[in-house]
Amino acid sequence: MPRRARPARNAPVMAMSDTIVAIATASGDAAIAITRLSGPDAVAIAARCFRGARDPARCGTHRILFGRFVVGDAPLDTVLLSVFRAPHSYTGEDVVEISSHGGPAVPRAIFEGLIAAGARAARPGEFTERAYRNGKLDLAQAEAVASIVRARSERSLRAAHATLGGDLTRRIEALDAELISISAEVESRLDFPGDVREAAEVAALGARCEARAAEIREWVERLPAARRREEGVRVALIGAPNVGKSSLLNALVGYDRAIVNESPGTTRDTVEASIWLDGVEIRLSDTAGMRETGDPVERLGVERSERAAAAADLTLVVRDCSAPEAGAELCERWIVKAVGPVIEVWNKSDLGRPGAGVRGGRVGGVAVGTGAGGPAGATAAAAVATPAKVIVETVAIQPGGVDALIAATRAALPSLLGDLPGEELPATSARQERLLRDAASALERAAAQLRAPIGDVAYDLAAVDLTEARRALGEMVGRGVDDAVVAAIFSRFCIGK
Ligand code: GDP
Repeated sequence: MPRRARPARNAPVMAMSDTIVAIATASGDAAIAITRLSGPDAVAIAARCFRGARDPARCGTHRILFGRFVVGDAPLDTVLLSVFRAPHSYTGEDVVEISSHGGPAVPRAIFEGLIAAGARAARPGEFTERAYRNGKLDLAQAEAVASIVRARSERSLRAAHATLGGDLTRRIEALDAELISISAEVESRLDFPGDVREAAEVAALGARCEARAAEIREWVERLPAARRREEGVRVALIGAPNVGKSSLLNALVGYDRAIVNESPGTTRDTVEASIWLDGVEIRLSDTAGMRETGDPVERLGVERSERAAAAADLTLVVRDCSAPEAGAELCERWIVKAVGPVIEVWNKSDLGRPGAGVRGGRVGGVAVGTGAGGPAGATAAAAVATPAKVIVETVAIQPGGVDALIAATRAALPSLLGDLPGEELPATSARQERLLRDAASALERAAAQLRAPIGDVAYDLAAVDLTEARRALGEMVGRGVDDAVVAAIFSRFCIGK
């Protein structure tokens, strides 16, 4: 439950008449599972299935009771009942959380027992939706709950908690306050048409719009890095068949995740596995070898590889020291195409030296070249804009043979994850990113009108654009968002959240 939740000003407050239930913990073997009820009859329904020294129906909020969960009169499991009374709960309604033994059978039987006792199965995200509708969270905070569950690194977790604590809402409110002040000035000029004496003041209003637009654009530009912290860094291994991509993936993850075979074209699908470096998930995908092929199944694999490579944050272009020509042309093409940084991996260096086409000098165990973009080791932001290419040598089949590759991957992380560790952006969803872009565009239009107003109509147009910017920012925290959008947001949550 958020510690600093405060009632959202814009959320509709409404009482939901039915009581919902869901298993809140992930399925599978586990020591403990939690099944959660929320709604006006939560305590009464739990009481029907509970036998213990104390009656849940008679206890106050924040109480834990020990007893047995019963189905009919047959005891099923020993449980702890945590009782939260409205409005002092996550959803703002009466909530009961039943902690039982885990595993697939017990929580399922408890869930079914509670349905038989009068509860209804919750939809995905319905608990958080109720928290929103009861004014416990605003929409930005509710979306942050989803980010917490999805977080793949400590930094993204901190960012999500910042949003849950109200950071994003406060940022939006500060921007909105400035836009209200600019709008008021513009509106006052609408009331006194033809007044051209204060041209400098009007231009200053334009400059204020421009400054806010720039602030929002800067925020948006930093979002891809924030998203990588949240969702992990996508790394694609690409190259011709048989150069050792699967062997490299196996060496990196430390076990045989991908099939290694001596005949070219064995990896026909994309194999994914993760490793963690410096607290960040590195999501590796070993793609089918890139080569021209007539085999329809292999062709599908190659197409999938191309998609994985196009979506990658970091591309590992794998070459074979013992056959430098293999896929050379395809590799060069991918190095040019890659949007992010590239590491050119010369594998099988036990069989020879890196082949022709290697540019740049060696730095320690890692050779550095200038690939498609600027020099390797360029500053963080520059490395993304103009990708640097780093060259490493590996022996996938020997212990320690991929250390240089791990070092190079680690070195690429600051540029991919943003380089401002002290300053977290509040977690921002894709929906909110789109709204930020809308707000920035509207402000840029308003700025253009105000900087060089052509007649009084400029004020009219600027006023419309300012309203549009305020609408977009307001929607980020749920203001003016219609029910269908709210339902769509919560439908992407997991069940029990
Ligand atoms: P992929 O098709 O690119 O995924 O290549 P594989 O990983 O399936 O490897 C193809 C063959 O090369 C296998 O027989 C591997 O054992 C071998 N191989 C992979 N890496 C190395 C290496 O660093 N040195 C040597 N000598 N053989 C390797």
